[in-house]
Amino acid sequence: MRLKLPPKVIRIIRVLQENGFEAYAVGGCVRDMILGREPDDWDITTSARPQQVKKIFLRTVDTGLAHGTVTVLLGDDSFEVTTYRIDGAYEDHRHPSFVTFSGELAEDLRRRDFTINAMAYNREQGLVDLFGGMEDLQRKRIRCVGDARERFGEDALRILRAVRFSAQLGFFVEAGTEKALREMADSLAFVSAERIQTELTKLLLSSHPAYVLRLFDTGIAGVILPELDEEIQNSGYLEKAAVRLKKAPSQKAMRLAIFLYPLGEKKAAQTLRRLKFDNHTIDAARRLVRWHDYSIGENPAAVRRAAALMGEEIFPQALQMQKTYKDVSKAESLWREILEKGQCISKKSMRISGDDLISLGMKPGRAIGECLEELFLDVLENPEHNTKEYLLECAKRKLA
Ligand code: ATP
Ligand code: MG
Repeated sequence: MRLKLPPKVIRIIRVLQENGFEAYAVGGCVRDMILGREPDDWDITTSARPQQVKKIFLRTVDTGLAHGTVTVLLGDDSFEVTTYRIDGAYEDHRHPSFVTFSGELAEDLRRRDFTINAMAYNREQGLVDLFGGMEDLQRKRIRCVGDARERFGEDALRILRAVRFSAQLGFFVEAGTEKALREMADSLAFVSAERIQTELTKLLLSSHPAYVLRLFDTGIAGVILPELDEEIQNSGYLEKAAVRLKKAPSQKAMRLAIFLYPLGEKKAAQTLRRLKFDNHTIDAARRLVRWHDYSIGENPAAVRRAAALMGEEIFPQALQMQKTYKDVSKAESLWREILEKGQCISKKSMRISGDDLISLGMKPGRAIGECLEELFLDVLENPEHNTKEYLLECAKRKLA
C-alpha cells in the first residue's frame, strides 16, 4: 500500500534513517490517510532516543522528553517525534507510572489504544499493521489492541475514546471491546477532568454528535456526567437531543448547550466548570441554555427586543439553535432585515449618550440611566427614532 506523506514528514523520516535509525509516520495520521481524511497532525515514531533526535535536527523543542517526545520544527510546521516506547502500568488509571524506551516498533504499536490507531507507515517498509487495523478500518470497527478489559484497566480514558472515535468516523464498537467498555465504565471516575473534557469536546464536534448519547446506555454518563444522567430519566430527552445535535452546526458552545439543556443554565455551567471548560465556552453555553426555549416572536419589534435582550453575538446563535427543533424562518428573515438596515438593538448604538443628557442639564446619577432606558425602548419599537435631533427633543420634553 502506498500512501502520500507530506514532503516534510518524508524528510524527517529520511534524515532519521540516514542517521541509522528507524522512523515511521504513526497513529492517527496513518489511519486518516488511509480513510482519505485530512490528518490533524503528523506524528513520527522512531528508534532514536530523544537526545539523538535533538542532535540530528537543528530546531527542536523539548515537548516531553521523559515520555520520549521531541518536537521538530521545519519552516512554519512542527512534528512530534517520539521514541518507540513501552508504557508501564497505569497505577492511577491516568499516567503510566514509567515509560521504557524500546528498539522495537512492534512494542510501540502494542501500547496504542485501538487497532486503527496502531499502524505505522513509511515509504520503504510500507504499511506496518500488526493487529488487523486495516481490516477494522474496512469493517468500520473500533477494537482494542489486545485484551480490551486489560487495556481499559491500564487507562480508563480509552473507554471514552472508543465512543469518540466511533463518533468521528461513524464506526461501531466491536462486541468484545463494547462489553469491556460497559463493564469498566466506572473506572472513568479516576480520570482527570481535563482529559475527559478534551474527548467529550471532540465527540460533540464530530460528524456524528448524536453518538454522545451512547454515554447513557453504556453507563459512562453515570460516571462522568451524573447530574445529567439523573436529570434525563423518562423525559424523551434522548430522542430530541439526537435530532437537535444532528441539525446543529459543529460549534462547541451550541452543541454543549443542546446536550446539557435539561440541566438548566446554572447546573449546566457548574458541570462545565467541573469539567474545566474555559470561561468563554461556559459563558456562551450557559446563555444558549437560557435562551433555548425563549419565544422570539415574529414581528420586527419583537425580534429587535429579543436581540437586545440576548445580546448581538449570542442572538444569531440562539436562532440557529432553536432552528434545530422549530421553524424560526420568519424571525431569521426579520433579523437579516434588521442587520441590513443597521437598526439599533443595543444602547451602545443609540444616537444619544449620558453626556448629551448632562449637557441638557440632567444631574449625573440614576435618572440618566432611566431616561436612556426609556429612550432605548422607544427606539426598539420605532427604529426611525434613532436620530440625535429626535432623541434630544424627547429628552428635553422628559426633563420639562
Ligand atoms: P486526533 O488527533 O485526530 O484526535 P489521534 O488518533 O491522533 O486522533 P491522539 O489523541 O492525538 O489521537 O493520539 C495520537 C495517537 O497516540 C493515537 O492514534 C494512539 O495511537 C495513541 N494514543 C493516544 N492516546 C492514547 C491512550 N490513552 N492510550 C493508548 N494510546 C493512545
Ligand atoms: Mg492526534
